[in-house]
Parts: sequence; structure tokens; C-alpha cells
Amino acid sequence: MAVCELISVGTEILLGDILNTDAQYLSIELAKLGISVIHQSTVGDNRERLLAQLDEAAKRSDIIILSGGLGPTPDDLTKEVCCEFFGKEMFLHEPTVEKIKKYFSSKGMKMAQNNLKQAMLPKDCVIFPNDNGTAPGMAIEKDDVHILVLPGPPRELKPMFQNCAVPYLMRFSDRIIVSHNIRTFGIGESSMAEKVNDMFDAHNPTVAPYAKDGEALLRVTAMAKTKEDAEKLCEPVIKEIKKRLDGYVYGVDYNCIEEAVIEMLKEHHLKVATAESCTGGLIAKRITDVPGASEVFECGIVSYANEIKHKVLGVSNDDLYKYGAVSEPVAKQMAQGALRVSGADIAVSVTGIAGPDSDSTNKPVGLIYIGLADKENVWVREIRTSRKDRSYNRYVSASNALNMIRLYIDNKL
Ligand code: ATP
Ligand code: MG
Repeated sequence: MAVCELISVGTEILLGDILNTDAQYLSIELAKLGISVIHQSTVGDNRERLLAQLDEAAKRSDIIILSGGLGPTPDDLTKEVCCEFFGKEMFLHEPTVEKIKKYFSSKGMKMAQNNLKQAMLPKDCVIFPNDNGTAPGMAIEKDDVHILVLPGPPRELKPMFQNCAVPYLMRFSDRIIVSHNIRTFGIGESSMAEKVNDMFDAHNPTVAPYAKDGEALLRVTAMAKTKEDAEKLCEPVIKEIKKRLDGYVYGVDYNCIEEAVIEMLKEHHLKVATAESCTGGLIAKRITDVPGASEVFECGIVSYANEIKHKVLGVSNDDLYKYGAVSEPVAKQMAQGALRVSGADIAVSVTGIAGPDSDSTNKPVGLIYIGLADKENVWVREIRTSRKDRSYNRYVSASNALNMIRLYIDNKL
């Protein structure tokens, strides 16, 4: 069985300025993986002493996990010393440079030159991206000794350990991990978190929230000796989450909402048509991206110009003039027109202001109307994204239209 040891790097720890909670956290989490920690040590920010410690560690351990000393300042030297120890060269990793630049610009700051040091990575390493800071972590290997380097701040170390180090370390574990993604639509990440807040403290399975493409999702992860046991641990938790987020969950382990919607359309033997303005065919594209879409998709009409909305879809010229193209009556008539032209069972429509600038009216960017018509009724929903980002607005409009189909089939419109 592989054995592991921890080296905490930082003079602050030796001075007693900070408590070594990283070592405690790592030991607990490694035990859950069934990996034995046989030694823990702390070294100051000192090249010679760290080299000596690595030398000793490599003689008795298969895995050495270091934490701290990944910062941009000259006293942060963990990565450099590990490379020196293994005789590995470093190179400037451009994607990491871009990521660090983005990280700073998202905070309205400019990247300092010394942050480039954090984008220097050992050749042939496995990179652990840092979603909560600038320094990536990494795993390097030589002669069957694996060195993992993680940042010191616990809020960076913990997610990196779970998201990157655990998958890397599974090769040494006798446990298996099962993960399920519960996909939701129409609820924000923080409102979702509020409803399941108490579940975030659980250990096996763990429940973690994520935001992706304007959607919030929850990942449920369990660890056990067998897949069946791990699935059994996940099952009641997924059931409970579905209950608490009733109406928002569109499925488990789907890659995107269109996959779920197409399955629902198939189940109910329904065919759909689309009439799109600001999304320029994106809904049709997303539906037809899914294999087997021909069973449920009849046609898509991109009625960008008002003239086409009138000529092809029969939208009233008076209403176009009176309410403008981005309005409830126009969304309704677009959906009804697409239904008529296609002969489908239902039709969805989108008309909105994608931005970055508004149209000639004073309507706000991000104002979107989604329509859905069947043979008897027509519904319209108004959405305000409050964002000036054109591609975001288009994507989210398409997602909302797809979600409207889901709500229709579930009788929730
Ligand atoms: P930074 O980019 O912030 O410099 P780093 O990876 O270089 O990160 P250190 O400089 O060693 O990490 O430590 C930064 C901070 O992280 C410390 O001031 C402390 O708050 C926290 N920290 C570091 N090591 C530990 C540890 N072993 N246990 C708990 N907290 C730690
Ligand atoms: Mg530091």
C-alpha cells in the first residue's frame, strides 16, 4: 500500500503565528481515501532545509504533499525547490498567465510582474488549476515518488485538494468515488444554496454547489469500497435535494438542458418548432446538437427583420409598430406563427435585446420575451438579465426557451 507524508512549508508556522490546519485537513481527507499518512513535518521558507526534508521523505514515502510557499514573492520557493530536487526544468505556461491576468482583471486589478513566477511550471507536471487564487498547484513524479504541491491558504488548498488532488490520488486508494450532478434551471446559486445549506456540512456524500453557463448545479460525491455502496450513499441525498428544489431540477447527470428537453419531448411524442429573433437560430442549433433531435424537431425560423416576422410568421404590423419587436404581443404571435407554418405540436419564440447596446427604443439590454404556443394556448415570459454581454444574453435566452418547453410538458406554465 502506498504511504504518504506531509511537508508544511512556512516560517509563520514555526514561529507559531499560524496554526497548521492544512496538515490536519489533509490528514483527515487522506484517511478517507484509505491512504496512510506516516509522517508530518514543518520546514521554514528555506531552500537547504526543504531540500534535506524532501530527500528524507522520498526515501520512505510514495507520495509527498507540500503546502504553502506558492505565492509570488521571493520567499515562496516550494515549487522551485521541488523542481531542483527532481532535476526538472520549468517553463512559462501561457494558459496560466492568461488565467492569472483574468483573475486580476475580474477584481479590477492589473497583474503584477512577479505574478508571472506563479505561471512557471515544471515540465511534465499535472497542473491543478486554482479557482480561488492565482497560484496553480501541481503533481510531479520521478522514480515512482509523487510530489504534490498545494497553496497554503486553506480556502485555496481545500477545493484544490478535492477537485484535483483526490482524482490524482485515486490510483493509490482502495476506494472508489461516484459523483452525480443535479442540474437546475431558474434558481440562482445563492437561493439554491439556502435551500440545501445544511447538506454542505455532510462528509460522505459531500454536496457542493457550482454555477455553470447561467445555471446552478449541485454535485453529490460519495466514496466507498464498491460502486454499488457509493451509489447507495448518494441515492437518498439526491432524492432529498430533488424534493427541496422541486420545480427547478431538470435532471441528474445531463450535460445541458437541451438533452433533458429532447428526452421529455420524445417521451410525450411532441414535435417542436422555433421562431427566433435575437438568438439567431441558437435554440435550433442547441436542439439539433443532440443526436436524435430529428424525432422531435420540426423547423426553426430565424425571423430577424420585422418584415420577416410579419411576412413569414404573420406578426401584426400594427403591433410591431405599437409595441416594438421586443414585446409580449410579438413574442406571442411569433410562436403562433411558427406553430402554423410548421404544423408542430408546440412552438417557442424569442425576441429580445441581446446588447451590448439597446435598440432604437429605450428598452433595457437583456430584456427578453419568450413565447410558447400549442394548438389552444399561448404563454409569454419576460426575462431581464441586467447584463450587457451579448453572447451571455443570447445563450441564456435560448436556455430559458428550452426551459419553457420543460415547464410546459410538466404542466407548470
Ligand atoms: P500566498 O500566495 O498567499 O503567499 P502561499 O501558497 O505562498 O500563498 P504561504 O505564503 O505559505 O502560502 O501562506 C499564506 C497564508 O496561507 C498564511 O499566511 C496562512 O494564512 C495560510 N497558511 C499557509 N500555510 C498554512 C497551513 N499549513 N495551515 C493553515 N494555514 C496556512
Ligand atoms: Mg506566500
